[in-house]
Amino acid sequence: MDTVFGKIIAGEIQAEKLYEDEHCIVIPDINPAAPVHLLVIPKKPLAMLSEADEDDQLLLGHLMLVVAKMANQLGVADGYRVIINNGAGGGQTVFHLHIHIIAGFEMKESDM
Ligand code: 5GP
Repeated sequence: MDTVFGKIIAGEIQAEKLYEDEHCIVIPDINPAAPVHLLVIPKKPLAMLSEADEDDQLLLGHLMLVVAKMANQLGVADGYRVIINNGAGGGQTVFHLHIHIIAGFEMKESDM
């Protein structure tokens, strides 16, 4: 729980929780890359997707359903991107699994 997201989950660092349930929270990204940029963060402190195993199957499915629910709520269901950066080589900077939801700009397939 010693990453910034662990501290947010523990209430040691403040963040606007747009959604919370027993498994995850959703907060706005502090440095948004698009008009809509949210982070879906599991309470379980998995460092990254590649550390997930079969025990995490339900959790990972739940996180994806929360992604869809948040996009519906925000009115961007017809156009958003879901990103997980895995490992330093994948651009990950906070080593507590999180899913980026980004929307509100024109996306092309080539914008990867
Ligand atoms: P990563 O590069 O690990 O996939 O993404 C980490 C994200 O966390 C970045 O987009 C960064 O802006 C965001 N972030 C880092 N620290 C904080 C924080 O204290 N609060 C919030 N809300 N977002 C953060």
